[in-house]
Amino acid sequence: MLPDDCLFCRLYRDGDHVASTEGFVAIRDINPQAETHLLVIPERHIDSFHDIGEFSPDEAKRMLDFLAEVAAHEGLSDYRLVVNAGPEAGQTVFHLHWHVLGGKLTRRMT
Ligand code: AMP
Ligand code: ZN
Repeated sequence: MLPDDCLFCRLYRDGDHVASTEGFVAIRDINPQAETHLLVIPERHIDSFHDIGEFSPDEAKRMLDFLAEVAAHEGLSDYRLVVNAGPEAGQTVFHLHWHVLGGKLTRRMT
């Protein structure tokens, strides 16, 4: 899929961001599966975590730091980080993203 047609490339540009840092944003999941359910989206389009090798060590570290910042920003002391890597694992949007889940799961992650 070309980035121009990509939902998360569009939400990176135009979405309602809960938090942001250079190259990364957090948005609320439209269909929450926990009391708090955010998505962390990098600006740079890679289809999935399978392509994580395209990120520099610095980018990867900043992404991990941002995940922790987003959880803290939401007041979460404990939380889950989930990446569905590939369709067989339930990935439906093919732009890398992390689920940040806090509180009780309200639905089963499928
Ligand atoms: P995954 O199944 O891991 O690819 O996750 C995709 C996530 O994107 C799902 O949890 C959806 O609920 C969420 N989602 C889809 N469309 C939107 C949207 N327009 N805004 C926010 N979240 C969305
Ligand atoms: Zn994209």
